[in-house]
Amino acid sequence: MPARVIDGKALAAEIRDGIRLKVAARLRENRRAPGLAVVLVGSDPASKIYVRNKRLACKEAGFISHAFDMPTDTSQAALLELVDRLNADPAIDGILVQLPLPVHIRTETIIERIRPDKDVDGFHPYNVGRLAQRVPLLRPCTPYGIIKLLEKYGETFTGRHAVVVGASNIVGRPMALELLLAGATVSICHRFTPEADLEKLVRTADIVVVAVGKPRLIPGAWIKPGATVIDVGMNRLGAGNLVGDVDFESARQRAALITPVPGGVGPMTVAMLLSNTLMAVELHNN
Ligand code: NAD
Repeated sequence: MPARVIDGKALAAEIRDGIRLKVAARLRENRRAPGLAVVLVGSDPASKIYVRNKRLACKEAGFISHAFDMPTDTSQAALLELVDRLNADPAIDGILVQLPLPVHIRTETIIERIRPDKDVDGFHPYNVGRLAQRVPLLRPCTPYGIIKLLEKYGETFTGRHAVVVGASNIVGRPMALELLLAGATVSICHRFTPEADLEKLVRTADIVVVAVGKPRLIPGAWIKPGATVIDVGMNRLGAGNLVGDVDFESARQRAALITPVPGGVGPMTVAMLLSNTLMAVELHNN
């Protein structure tokens, strides 16, 4: 029987509705709306779409969205200055600097400058460290959203082998930490994993999360029958055609549960960004 297809849009909408109600309740109690600063440097087309979606989602939730669009040649010093200003601004609860940044700006330097209690992307070493030490606060949005999806669909973690393909700072690594925290046995593959080992590991995975950015890297034949398959990849082929890192049609014949692309993980990332911003205001800035 083909896999059940996970509806990321539906859960994201449910979470966003819940946040909207909480914001409305804050306003009724004469507390202010959460403020999120979204900083975009340059004009990368994909980043522009992501930023537009995040700003729209903010408005819908009743947040105040502060937009900072800067030219590609913005200096690192100027961006640090903006971060300092936002750090000090009591009307800003969350700061999001859209990645990737232009190559002349050192991403780590910018991320480390954001106050950890305003780091709603969850990328600051303090927040990643908290997740690593099993005391998470602001958690990286995509992996956190995936855990929420898995919980919603009744996934169990203890005694299950989870294989994460991709080890980036924003998806793969924190995903592995989330799965470890949830109680799974975790393996991580990356660009230096020989393909034969990648196949061997994926074939043993009860849960496989793929975040690489290579269209249909994982063939359906590798999927263990009954496994859960989470595809984070977003690869734009010609004509607006978006595909994941997993060959969906063949994987779906073997998996029990699978995310589609689009409509799986993507919408959850934005929902968790809002959730983190609400948490930031409630924890630190009420
Ligand atoms: P990245 O380029 O930073 O990292 C890719 C990772 O894949 C690296 O760790 C690399 O070692 C590994 N890799 C490369 N080739 C490999 C191979 N042949 N076998 C195994 N591992 C390999 O990318 P990223 O930022 O982590 O994003 C990955 C994908 O997820 C992209 O398609 C991106 O668009 C998508 N993404 C989606 C969301 C979402 O909300 N849905 C969020 C972030 C990223």
